Amino acid sequence: MTTKRVALVTGSTSGIGLSIASKFAAMGYDVAINSFEAEADIMNTLRSLAGNGTKVRYFQSDLSLDGGGYDLVGEVVSSFGQLDVLVNNAGIQKVAPVEELPPADWDRIVAVSLDSAFHTIRAALPGMTRRGWGRIINIASAHGLRASPFKSAYVATKHAVVGLTKAVALETAEKGITVNAICPGYVWTPLVAAQVADQARVHAMSEEQVVREVMLAPQPTRQFVQPEEIAELAAYLCGDLARSITGSAISIDGGWTAK
Ligand code: NAD
Repeated sequence: MTTKRVALVTGSTSGIGLSIASKFAAMGYDVAINSFEAEADIMNTLRSLAGNGTKVRYFQSDLSLDGGGYDLVGEVVSSFGQLDVLVNNAGIQKVAPVEELPPADWDRIVAVSLDSAFHTIRAALPGMTRRGWGRIINIASAHGLRASPFKSAYVATKHAVVGLTKAVALETAEKGITVNAICPGYVWTPLVAAQVADQARVHAMSEEQVVREVMLAPQPTRQFVQPEEIAELAAYLCGDLARSITGSAISIDGGWTAK
């Protein structure tokens, strides 16, 4: 990397987002991390990312709120002066039959996973276009390419994130900007750990059965993907030699979507 670059990773105090933020900080990027939590509650995370002479700053923003992503990008640009890499990672999950899914949960899942990506992209593109370089990575899911029962809102938003990725990639193809989706299979993070109990209820299984027969069953490797594997792929997509990869939905799912 010849010039200092600035990356924003939404939803980066935990799991995949934290791993991506750590990777970018280790590579020498200045990094903006984000969640809805109060800064006082994430001080240890912030300290763990410091070092290497890079700046790591926290931006509290609840992306379920209307336009939150647009304002977030504005704050990051005000603070760092520019934004070169945008990783739309924030996402939430709810496991329930569609007729039992509360509309408020539907709205929140769509707002955090899909609407916020639209708002951050809208805000980030003018600066990337002016500088003639940018990378946008949307963390979709194997559920952006395949469905599972009891995850209607999640599957719908992740399919839509893949569609958003393709459309924006076409609009930016001649501007030095790439736009891609990463589609992980099951990655062991707090988001997945938190859904084991709900999965056990809707499938009428024990929690051990859920891990073995629901989560790892579709992954031919029978292993969880590690957050660091996603971070490595994100880092690759930011390299200049990845400039021809755009509009892609890249699976990292232990073979799930090969079936
Ligand atoms: P996680 O729960 O560990 O982390 C989610 C992060 O998003 C946290 O930092 C949280 O604070 C933040 N967040 C949640 N709601 C927010 C809001 N309203 N505003 C701002 N920040 C908010 O989750 P994870 O497993 O690391 O998932 C990260 C992304 O990867 C999500 O988009 C998820 O759908 C996707 N994904 C995860 C898996 C998996 O198996 N873990 C698989 C495929 C895709």
